[in-house]
Amino acid sequence: MGGLFGAFSQTSAAVHINQERDSTLEDVYLGLFALQHRGQQSAGIAWTHEGSDRIQSLKTVGLLGGIDILQLDGINSNSAIGQVRVSGKGGFVLQNIQPLTIKYSRGHLAVAHDGNLSNTEELTEKLEKDGAIFQSECDTELLLHLMAHKPDKSPLDALLCSLPSLKGGFSMLLLLEGKLVALRDPLGFRPLVLGRRENMVYAASETCALDIIGAKIIREVEPGEAVVISENNMESIRFAPKLEDLSVCSFEYVYIARPDSVMEGKYVYAVRKELGRILARMDSVRGVNANLVSGMPDSGTIAALGYAEASGLPYDIAVSINRYVGRTFIRPTQRIRELGVRLKLNPSVQLMSGKNVVIVDDSIVRGVTLKKAMQTIRLSGPKEIHMRIASPPVRFPCRYSLDTSSADMLIASRMNIEALCLHLGADSLKHVKEQDLINAIGLPSNKMCTACFSGKYPINDNA
Ligand code: SF4
Ligand code: MG
Repeated sequence: MGGLFGAFSQTSAAVHINQERDSTLEDVYLGLFALQHRGQQSAGIAWTHEGSDRIQSLKTVGLLGGIDILQLDGINSNSAIGQVRVSGKGGFVLQNIQPLTIKYSRGHLAVAHDGNLSNTEELTEKLEKDGAIFQSECDTELLLHLMAHKPDKSPLDALLCSLPSLKGGFSMLLLLEGKLVALRDPLGFRPLVLGRRENMVYAASETCALDIIGAKIIREVEPGEAVVISENNMESIRFAPKLEDLSVCSFEYVYIARPDSVMEGKYVYAVRKELGRILARMDSVRGVNANLVSGMPDSGTIAALGYAEASGLPYDIAVSINRYVGRTFIRPTQRIRELGVRLKLNPSVQLMSGKNVVIVDDSIVRGVTLKKAMQTIRLSGPKEIHMRIASPPVRFPCRYSLDTSSADMLIASRMNIEALCLHLGADSLKHVKEQDLINAIGLPSNKMCTACFSGKYPINDNA
């Protein structure tokens, strides 16, 4: 999984008359900053120098802040792309930090990719037979090899001819031939949206990244479309036919996207709130005897507000979060290990003691943190805890986006709801149903992927 942001300055000549520098690199930095929730394991920015096709990059392990914005100061660039990322396929090694940059026989190029290819093995085998040697362990490199195998074509043509070989989830940004290419897989698994501010054109994983730099949304990149942004033009090229059935990722609306983003015309915040209302309506039919609603911070908060609104029960922030807990204690002491989840979450005895509490969370994937959180919440003395989950059980691995490559790691695939409720130590546990999720998002069901909930994989392959 990752967050992508690209910027292209279309009237650099005019800007130079005014003696002003393009804001390209600063915009990419700020855009990525707004997308940090999509990946915290590495970050990178690649750019072309004005008037040359040479590409340079800066990369860091961890958060984007590992790249000092001042390092970009004084560089005059009219096109740049960047990515924040979690490991995905290939795991986490330094060579996997994107954008990948290469120089091959036809020139320099850089690529950043959000998503996972589902036919990696098949492609790798084929390319290795043809003598390819891989440098990174990420599936994105496969595209570069496919392109390099077409030395008689220009980089852009080689790209367009190679894309039909890829299956699975891929939104990509590329720098090549002095152009910025923004493209989206034929089924639209991963998001990608175009924006503009004056002479600048942008491509971003989410609209919240366009908001931060004051850009207006132009439109989404269409599934199967490559948008080629150049000095005077924005050309739309189809590399795959328009399909009736699409696979927009429903988990974006549940968890991945920032709530202030709009995806496929649907406001993520509103979807999450509606999911909470749906949970409340499920309870009003069967009855739950509760006197307080709270959300598991931060991902369950909005759905909890929806639940409170529809049920009429009071909402309180009964679990506080410490947002400044880093991801790594390099050498945790025994005491720190014992404190565990309490370092991050602190349930309120004052609010919860003796109450029947509804706790809403967005989803249960591995269930490890949630179990520990529930143990901590128990210590604050509620009489009953009713766990409500604003998505269906995640039972199937995702092949297109998330790093959930095996069903074993998904707790809902190992046990049924009753067993899971017991395991979590809740007094009751309910999930939103698949059809309710589809209704809350508001897109037609044949436009969405729900494979991690339903097991209905949109692509028939053996990956
Ligand atoms: Fe999204 Fe789930 Fe489909 Fe993966 S399987 S693309 S997470 S809806
Ligand atoms: Mg959560």
